[in-house]
Amino acid sequence: MDFLRPTTWEEALAAKADRPEALPLQGGTDVMVEINFGVRRPEALLDLTRVAELREWSVADGVCRLGAGVSYTTVVEELGGALPGLAQASRTVGSPQIRNRGTVGGNLGAASPAGDSHPPLLAAGAVVEVESRDRGVRAIPVHAFYLGVKRPALEPDELIRAVRAGVAAGPQYFSKVGTRNAMVIAVCSFALALHPAERRAGTGIGSAGPTPLRATEAEDFLARELDWDAPPGAPLGAGLLRRFGELCAAAASPIDDVRGTAAYRRHAVAVMARRTLTWAWDDHVGRRAA
Ligand SMILES: Cc1cc2nc3c(=O)[nH]c(=O)nc-3n(C[C@H](O)[C@H](O)[C@H](O)COP(=O)(O)OP(=O)(O)OC[C@H]3O[C@@H](n4cnc5c(N)ncnc54)[C@H](O)[C@@H]3O)c2cc1C
Repeated sequence: MDFLRPTTWEEALAAKADRPEALPLQGGTDVMVEINFGVRRPEALLDLTRVAELREWSVADGVCRLGAGVSYTTVVEELGGALPGLAQASRTVGSPQIRNRGTVGGNLGAASPAGDSHPPLLAAGAVVEVESRDRGVRAIPVHAFYLGVKRPALEPDELIRAVRAGVAAGPQYFSKVGTRNAMVIAVCSFALALHPAERRAGTGIGSAGPTPLRATEAEDFLARELDWDAPPGAPLGAGLLRRFGELCAAAASPIDDVRGTAAYRRHAVAVMARRTLTWAWDDHVGRRAA
């Protein structure tokens, strides 16, 4: 197995163009498990850990840009204000060791329907920046990035460079159901972001379909039905919450597997949808009162 170790982004793109079969390696928390268990035997590994710019993040013009090598620990410690939904999800990933090594870029590269960064990125309306040496940069809306089970929208010569999302201008929440509180793959998960200036909401559903999903009908419902100018402290109606939960559950496309049944997952998605909307709404009307 060849081990390619570029030190700049240009060298990394050249290596991927020349050796499209080379498997990118960032934190290695998915790749090394697959190699150790014999799931993969790549002819070459493309180690991206020396490409320093991938570990950087920045905020400009209301947009937060995370290099593909930004770890969950960095998101938790430094980005709770800009991307609270992603920071909440990052807190639930694995263990401290996995959060130190594991990256949002690696989660996107793996494109598992259970990956915890996907629902908040969907809810925030994130865009994935991918690049190849020969065709340059493509900006892919995250909802179009997941083509199938563990199938990201990457050409063989492309690498993920960064992911961009607007700095939160409203409340964001993430909720995850697992069989215990740490080191657990989601049975299912849900993220919600309110975008009050645009009078709309974003959603993301994890581990309840072949890919991470948005509940677009539920988003349209909230855009129509939420009273964005409600007075401080105004509660949400029980009917609105119930309908939102039903629409989110209907958007899921779960299966029965070892972690849970399809029926349980649909039920849990509805519960998480109602809970996250209640939390977000309380912040929204509370914030308006402040
Ligand atoms: C014990 C344990 C617990 C875990 N718990 C969780 C959890 O709770 N939630 C969760 O979501 N995940 C969990 N994971 C899975 C894993 O940690 C995450 O998916 C993590 O985000 C992977 O990031 P990484 O940097 O380690 O990726 P890597 O393993 O380096 O790469 C993952 C995939 O992305 C590709 N890739 C990496 N970088 C790029 C790039 N720049 N361009 C193109 N492709 C790229 C790789 O080729 C590979 O296919 C866990 C893993 C372990 C071992």
